[in-house]
Amino acid sequence: MLGLSGILMAVLFSIGGWSFGRLSVGMAPLVLAYAAIPHTLDGYASAPIWWAGTIAATLWFLFQVVFSVRQLRAVRTLAKRSSTGLTAEVGPAASAALRSIARESIFWATGLSIAATIAGIATFGVLSTELGHTYEELEGGSFSDYLATAAAILSILAIIQWVRCGWRAIARTVVGNLLWQVSPGLGPVEGLLSPKEHDAGMLPFAHAQATPGCTCIEEFFRSDPSEDEEFLEGDGVLAAAYCPAHGIDQVNSLTPEQFRSKAITTWFWDENSAEPISENLEADRCLLIGFAGHSFTGLPAQFKNGQAETNPGPGELADERVPGTGAWSWEPPKPPLGGILDRIDLRPVGLGGQAIRYSHGRAWFETGNQNHELDRR
Ligand SMILES: [Zn+2]
Repeated sequence: MLGLSGILMAVLFSIGGWSFGRLSVGMAPLVLAYAAIPHTLDGYASAPIWWAGTIAATLWFLFQVVFSVRQLRAVRTLAKRSSTGLTAEVGPAASAALRSIARESIFWATGLSIAATIAGIATFGVLSTELGHTYEELEGGSFSDYLATAAAILSILAIIQWVRCGWRAIARTVVGNLLWQVSPGLGPVEGLLSPKEHDAGMLPFAHAQATPGCTCIEEFFRSDPSEDEEFLEGDGVLAAAYCPAHGIDQVNSLTPEQFRSKAITTWFWDENSAEPISENLEADRCLLIGFAGHSFTGLPAQFKNGQAETNPGPGELADERVPGTGAWSWEPPKPPLGGILDRIDLRPVGLGGQAIRYSHGRAWFETGNQNHELDRR
């Protein structure tokens, strides 16, 4: 009995198994064993082939387990080597997100276990009514096969989810609950944006309003009359090219020393330029809370009011960066080639790079170590 269910499960897994990503490596041996056992009990000639598949999938799974253990050891070593010994407080939104991720994980494992148990009981109930009947008597089909397939799928998902919870707990314990500081665009995960990513060329609305002679707000509404003031209050206003207070001429009239001393001023920079990231300012750092390898990729965060905090909204784990898939194909816009006025070294004020000023545009920031080659690897 249930040989059909095993085949049905194997077919379903070969169609949809890819969607489980890395987890499918752990599911494959269970799926194949589920087909191999009834084929053996019923004495089918194909049973050894199912077992060969089960053994191959198990070996591959063990091979991956070894890799996971090695990765975990590497992360722990890196954590120990790069530790500063300092501690930081985790903000309320980040703490809530960490709790909700743990809760959700256990919720799924428990829910799947309950569903698998119910489906299992139903299968045995139906099976007992079907046993002893011939194929013809059951009119060509056995309902228990379909029920058993559902029960087996739910059981495998439950097992995998519990293994995942357990492995995550082990990884987090081994590595420790650490706050990682990561260079933007580098590291094992994606989506770690510098807190200042979208501020270049912008001016806080209140500052524009309070500056005598500033035409930035007026220019903004001339170019886009449909926009409302609320939008500007939240996001700030784009500095106007000819504003007497914030125009391109004002950027270029500064002496290099004046420019350098105020270089973190957002409106100095072209809206497509990167912004200088301070090596001294905590608020400029990209943080990752609790990274412990691929089982727990951590929460992207920033320092806010001295606490490591995530952005408002549901905190989600960072996405793993997959090497060699072109996932990191975005290239930052490049500054113009001509019209360069001067270059100002910003390293003396703790900003790792230089400013390039242009005769007819705002300044562009160039980091000291352009890591684009590394990013593309
Ligand atoms: Zn202005």
